[in-house]
Amino acid sequence: MDDCIFCKIAAHQIPSTVVYEDDKVIAFDDLAPQAPVHTLVIPKDHYANIIDGVPADVLAAMVNAVSEVARAKGLDDGFRVIANTGEVAGQTVHHFHMHVLGGKPLGENLV
Ligand code: IMP
Repeated sequence: MDDCIFCKIAAHQIPSTVVYEDDKVIAFDDLAPQAPVHTLVIPKDHYANIIDGVPADVLAAMVNAVSEVARAKGLDDGFRVIANTGEVAGQTVHHFHMHVLGGKPLGENLV
């Protein structure tokens, strides 16, 4: 999509700190981190959210990317994955993304 910031990041049209990339997905550090590690995993193709018909192979690539992020960031003790879906959940960028949060005890709060 022309006006989607995450499509532009996926296409390397705007800079990001890339943590992992393959042909289907890219993972990059969040601009406004909510934890010592806060990385976003997105599909390179545009889907509005996790239930927007994302193909199984893309979902598998996303989960693999989460694993790669955890390894690259040393999240051996665990981490949290969040996919805000829709306005009620606070989704602000309408290109499917998974937040990977860690690097500190996360407690009961979601972020
Ligand atoms: P959401 O609220 O689940 O939609 O999360 C969107 C996330 O994207 C927020 O955590 C933002 O800080 C992050 N974000 C927005 N624009 C950029 C960017 O250009 N680079 C990296 N992260 C971004």
